[in-house]
Amino acid sequence: MASRTLIGIYGGTFDPIHYGHLRVAEELADNIGFDRFYFVPAGEPRLREVPAASKDQRCEMVRLAIADNPVFRLDEREIKRQGVSTTVESLQEYHAEFKGRATLCFVMGADTFVKLHHWRHWHKLFELCHLIIVDRPGSLVMKDQQRLPEEIRQACVSRWVARSSDLTRCSSGMIYVAQTTLLDISATNIRALVAAGRSIRYLLHESVADFIKTHHLYTGANGFKNTGKNYS
Ligand code: ATP
Repeated sequence: MASRTLIGIYGGTFDPIHYGHLRVAEELADNIGFDRFYFVPAGEPRLREVPAASKDQRCEMVRLAIADNPVFRLDEREIKRQGVSTTVESLQEYHAEFKGRATLCFVMGADTFVKLHHWRHWHKLFELCHLIIVDRPGSLVMKDQQRLPEEIRQACVSRWVARSSDLTRCSSGMIYVAQTTLLDISATNIRALVAAGRSIRYLLHESVADFIKTHHLYTGANGFKNTGKNYS
């Protein structure tokens, strides 16, 4: 296992990317020692409303936010894919590209994890990657796994590991709940602040805040969308 490339993958709408995402990625990259950490903006999220910013704009905001981090990469594969796009498909492509020599760790917030059973082919995730779950303020489910939806609880029995180092014991199928700094920041809230003409400073990278201002994103009637938090 030692010679395998360790890859972190963070899927999301990133509408816009904010410090909640970036701090989680930084802490995981630092603690787990990822060789690369990919941000993968979703194309057309199936389980939530159409994003307010365009695909190109969401990608550009990720590009700006991660520009100074040598481990972080933007991956536009889901944005560019025609038709229905799934995480499972992306993970299969990663395996093909790394010729089966990468260990993939898919990162998601607890609010996303509790809806995992709505994703297409979600059981296949366990054959393709490890899951790293991070808690989010307001999502206390990870403190009591008995409260997870039954389908998820059953599928995850015997997959939980207590230490990140356990993820190198095999190449997929484990679930690790990482303790990262809880930041009560959401894209929904940022869009609402912009729509209300309020400050978004210090909630997200300054270059992203500038981009939002320059391109008049999230203002007006369609600026504030209280989207669900799932995609597949
Ligand atoms: P929205 O409010 O529009 O639903 P969001 O802020 O939840 O957006 P997404 O792009 O939907 O951001 O999230 C991508 C992933 O990042 C999800 O797995 C989500 O749980 C996680 N995430 C988002 N914000 C945080 C945060 N503050 N702390 C930890 N995880 C987060």
